[in-house]
Amino acid sequence: MEEIIVAKFGGTSLADSKQFKKVKEIVLADERRRYIVPSAPGKRYKKDHKVTDLLYMCYQLASHKLNFDEVYGIIEKRFHDICNDLKLEIDIGEILSEIKEKIRAGESRDYVASRGEYINGILLSEYLGFEFVDAKDLILFDEKGHFDWEGTNKKVKELLGSISTAVIPGFYGAKPNGEIVTFSRGGSDITGAIIARGVDSILYENWTDVPGFLMVDPKIVDNPKPIETITYKELRELSYMGAPVLHAESIFPVREAGIPINIRNTNSIEDPGTTIVNDLSPIANVGTITGIAGKKDFTVIAIEKTLMNQEKDFYRKLITVLETNDITIEHMPSSIDSVSLIIPSAQLNSKLDKIIEEIRIYCKPDSIDTYPNMALIAVVGRGMIRTKGISAKVFTALANEGINVRMITQGSSELNIIIGVENDDLEKGIAAIYRAFN
Ligand code: ADP
Ligand code: ASP
Ligand code: MG
Repeated sequence: MEEIIVAKFGGTSLADSKQFKKVKEIVLADERRRYIVPSAPGKRYKKDHKVTDLLYMCYQLASHKLNFDEVYGIIEKRFHDICNDLKLEIDIGEILSEIKEKIRAGESRDYVASRGEYINGILLSEYLGFEFVDAKDLILFDEKGHFDWEGTNKKVKELLGSISTAVIPGFYGAKPNGEIVTFSRGGSDITGAIIARGVDSILYENWTDVPGFLMVDPKIVDNPKPIETITYKELRELSYMGAPVLHAESIFPVREAGIPINIRNTNSIEDPGTTIVNDLSPIANVGTITGIAGKKDFTVIAIEKTLMNQEKDFYRKLITVLETNDITIEHMPSSIDSVSLIIPSAQLNSKLDKIIEEIRIYCKPDSIDTYPNMALIAVVGRGMIRTKGISAKVFTALANEGINVRMITQGSSELNIIIGVENDDLEKGIAAIYRAFN
């Protein structure tokens, strides 16, 4: 069977005409790169705006019946510039004004947000000489807006089976009635993974603006070491805990099919990047860590009750309060007479006082305290398993920086250590742990 590579290019990789040229060079360098998934134009420089953010703002203004010409004008200029520089024979003015009319007429938030990918897909397909296949015809959601995995897989095989080279915009699909639905932010990675799976590709390439998955966020440490190989599980832990390089949900479609993912740098084609491999592959980083990531803004609800572990229904009641308030728990470290609930603060919003009162009524604790502003650091690596001294190194590094550790948990798989610190200590803590291992 002919070998196929699916290549997804992120926002910075397609931010302007200069980047489009690099992308064309990459795509044409290997004829196996037959299905290309673009994001909307991202930032060209630090203070620039992502087209998707501009579109969300247009939607917001329009939904309040306010004039959005100024913001839409920025988007129009971005696309006109790309078309003019690349001399594309596309009536971009017409496409842009049609979409503007629809935004004004009250189209949905998802529809508006998806237009960055849609237009970029049209431009890229013209520039590459590939067919444009609208994601609304391939990526299917059910009436309730849930992703329809089987329907999509069938559609991808059916439609792309007869098209040798195509550009499919990332980030969105449609319900049976044609209504557009987007994935969560960064979701073009998911589209790429779905297409890779659907066409039975031998490789899913994810092209971005860094030399692969790095040991830590390059905004926290200058030039961190790239990770050569990483397992799906490690990558999921790191992406979930705040490294946005690859959307955490993009792992599932390809992992199941055993398709390797290669994260590459559009700005430096020679870099081999990071290869994501099977969870059972030989451990690359024996005796050390693979990467560190972190997220801010968690709230701790600390509950004490003497002999709580002898009350059979204590935990059930506690979880019921959270469940009925629509709250998910991130972690729940406990000791004999106490338990802490670690919850993303954004979920609590104005519900915190109500939840505390309900726990008082239902669980009758001796005391209940809350601590906002906690950050979580995840130290991840298969190489830590059954290796002595890793935790000592991590906690010594934090102690030497004067960072107070407020919580520790370790997954039973020993794949990660999660450490709770003050929000303000997050960057300092990650940098200190990185230094301890490099
Ligand atoms: P794209 O637009 O290509 O999808 P993203 O912005 O979604 O790219 O992800 C790449 C960015 O992720 C990098 O520019 C970098 O700033 C950030 N980042 C955070 N943590 C990491 C990490 N551990 N390794 C690499 N990049 C990281
Ligand atoms: N453009 C979308 C976003 O900014 C999707 C993506 O970039 O993957 O979230
Ligand atoms: Mg991304």
